Amino acid sequence: MRLSEVHGLVKQKEHLLKSIASNRLPHAQLFLGPAGSGKLSLAHAIVQYLYCTDRSATDSCGECSSCRKISTYSHPDVHYSFPTVIKTSGKKPKSDDFMEEWRAMNKDDHYFSTADWIGTIADSENKSPNITREETHSIMSKLALKPYEGEAKTLILWMPEYLQKESNALLKLIEEPAQ
Ligand SMILES: [Zn+2]
Repeated sequence: MRLSEVHGLVKQKEHLLKSIASNRLPHAQLFLGPAGSGKLSLAHAIVQYLYCTDRSATDSCGECSSCRKISTYSHPDVHYSFPTVIKTSGKKPKSDDFMEEWRAMNKDDHYFSTADWIGTIADSENKSPNITREETHSIMSKLALKPYEGEAKTLILWMPEYLQKESNALLKLIEEPAQ
């Protein structure tokens, strides 16, 4: 999605664009705000802006190959982690197992809550969502690979409060990325 499609958040957009223009965007950004404030939309839009090959001073083009891949959640260098639930027979879930649902959910509505998301992927009420240790390992091995296309890889980590204790290694990598 383009920055112009994100409602409001004018100051935040300006700040991010300024940081990018001066090549001072920190490698990790935490978007904090109440439910429905558009944090996830802003993350999607700013990542699209970063990878766009024909961006203007204020927005991505929405039409280049990178923009198209990112807007369909299929860019090989952009990864997503989010809370999941156990779906089948004790198999520890990873975010990749739910990419189809993630694409569908994000296509319809960028302002969904964790409860909306879990309601979509869980088949019963009493599933406790989390970002599993298996997901942490999966994401760390993805981030260790060289980028396929652009110059960098990106992880959009939605709802980091669902990370497990064993995920400290991922937090450490976010604080101190490999060069
Ligand atoms: Zn573009």
